[in-house]
Amino acid sequence: MRNIDHLVVGGPGNASGRTKEVYNPSTGEVQAKVALGDTALLDRAVEAAKKVQPEWAMTNPQKRARVMFRYKELIEANMDDLARLLSSEHGKVIDDAKGDVQRGLEVIEYACGIPQVQKGEYTIGAGPGIDVYSMRQPLGIGAGITPFNFPAMIPMWMFGMAIACGNAFILKPSERDPSVPVRLVELFLEAGAPEGLLQCVHGDKEMVDAILDHPDIAAISFVGSSDIAHYVYKRGVDNGKRVQAMGGAKNHGIVMPDADLDQVVNDLTGAAFGSAGERCMALPVVVPVGDDTAERLKAKLIPAIEALRVGVSTDPEAHYGPVVTAEHKARVEQWIDTAEKEGGDIVIDGRGFSLQGHEKGFFVGPTLIDRVTTDMESYKEEIFGPVLQIVRAKDFEEALSLPSKHQYGNGVAIFTRNGHAAREFAARVNVGMVGINVPIPVPVSYHSFGGWKRSAFGDTNQYGTEGMKFWTKVKTVTQRWPDGGGDGSNAFVIPTMG
Ligand code: NAD
Repeated sequence: MRNIDHLVVGGPGNASGRTKEVYNPSTGEVQAKVALGDTALLDRAVEAAKKVQPEWAMTNPQKRARVMFRYKELIEANMDDLARLLSSEHGKVIDDAKGDVQRGLEVIEYACGIPQVQKGEYTIGAGPGIDVYSMRQPLGIGAGITPFNFPAMIPMWMFGMAIACGNAFILKPSERDPSVPVRLVELFLEAGAPEGLLQCVHGDKEMVDAILDHPDIAAISFVGSSDIAHYVYKRGVDNGKRVQAMGGAKNHGIVMPDADLDQVVNDLTGAAFGSAGERCMALPVVVPVGDDTAERLKAKLIPAIEALRVGVSTDPEAHYGPVVTAEHKARVEQWIDTAEKEGGDIVIDGRGFSLQGHEKGFFVGPTLIDRVTTDMESYKEEIFGPVLQIVRAKDFEEALSLPSKHQYGNGVAIFTRNGHAAREFAARVNVGMVGINVPIPVPVSYHSFGGWKRSAFGDTNQYGTEGMKFWTKVKTVTQRWPDGGGDGSNAFVIPTMG
């Protein structure tokens, strides 16, 4: 049995003695045990981070960027191994696992340009003999609490930006697939980062609470489900920390009558079923506009879904693999039960799916549910599995209102050939990230990622200049170098530039 340990200065030392099983979702077998840390372990990590962070903050930004450049090379050199390891614990297929690593790497590439991104502003002559300049200083020690579904991308989003900006970082990855995060930290040290700058502590609620309450952690970035995101946000903010907390999603794909349906079906099957639907930017709801569009779309969707190949994560032909745990499989199947009881029409039923030779794997067959309505619980909540729901809208306005009124507002897509409709949709929809004929509109690393409503608590997005802003605070200096003669101003009146 492989043990997955914390990666903190001074060695793993797991005083709590608690561990948790890590599965191979394709076989259903336990393949490792991960240590679950406690407050004492976190204290040790924070002490080590405190020792190294001030010097790192004073290291010139170009030197900090050089670590990022070396890290980029190391990630590229280790891409295949990382993808295999990721896929063995998460269950997503290898090519998709490479995408997971790649999308994180793109933020590291962005962080290579930190000298340009982080430089301040200067105004010469803001008043008589007065100059004003501002600088962006790191916060100190940051922590990241990450979900199981992107075990490479999301940690890199967070620590790439935090560390490039001059912070030390403590990563608390998901306990369900913790090996890749550990490997990412090892490679970062190999890239030349000083010991203690990036550490990894494992754990569950106990460790998360310790992070939320630790007085020396200045900022927390969280990604996970919405209830926990809200909890993390409230408790972190209560403790005076800066917190960004991204939550769940229920993204809609609007299909206008003029859309290229073959393209839509191709995009939709990938976006709804890829990674077994375990993506916060998946498209689990499709909204055809008009009954005619709905019928034409359904006729094309059914054979496309029936042709999907579900397989073990190493199967190069598989479109998607298992879901992450047996409990998650049970939860997804329960949601299909609920949808059926609520009156949804189960067109393709993925319940009870079993893969020959891998009967203990956590597989769920692709599921298509028609006639879903907004009052159904299975519509209101996130299912996070290979389940696509059809909600029929009578016209554009109704289609626009569905994602706009939903409790989640992460991503949304519209499929159309009508530029005016697309433009109108993008301007008016109450959702944070919009795709126009793009099913999974995860913004590139030099823009930024963040949803609205219950998909994100806090006001700063991940990565890009938004990420830099989250991980730094602004200091503004107003300076005057008098020539000794005085300027004759009345020091009792608030200074103005009049
Ligand atoms: P999760 O909320 O179960 O876990 C996320 C993190 O919180 C993990 O590190 C976990 O250890 C910790 N945690 C779990 N229970 C906790 C508790 N009671 N108290 C404190 N901490 C706790 O999420 P998950 O199942 O790992 O990931 C899937 C969820 O993440 C989905 O809802 C998905 O939409 C969401 N997600 C959102 C985004 C986004 O950017 N909006 C991106 C990816 C995933």
